[in-house]
Amino acid sequence: MLILDCPCCGVRGEETEFAAGGEAHLKRFGPGSTDDQFHDYLFMKENPKGVHLERWRHANGCGKWFLAARNTVTMEVYGTYSAQTTEPPQEIKDKISAKVPGWSWREFS
Ligand SMILES: [Zn+2]
Repeated sequence: MLILDCPCCGVRGEETEFAAGGEAHLKRFGPGSTDDQFHDYLFMKENPKGVHLERWRHANGCGKWFLAARNTVTMEVYGTYSAQTTEPPQEIKDKISAKVPGWSWREFS
């Protein structure tokens, strides 16, 4: 069972209280982008076996979007944080690095 803490309202709940929104920290491409950029934005998502950064919405609660760092194998949640960020907070990155040797944050530009 996946237990998430909503960073917006502070409620802890199981995943049925939330709605998954896919990969977090996507670089968006729209008008003016090349076909390849737009294609990759739409269809080329990560599906890692391990650490994944995801978007979630507190659908049966405050209704707000937030981001979560979790492990898709162990279901461990490393932390949740505001959706208004461009990368995970340093404390979450440190926690992941301590538990998953070799993991590194990829740079988004
Ligand atoms: Zn909430």
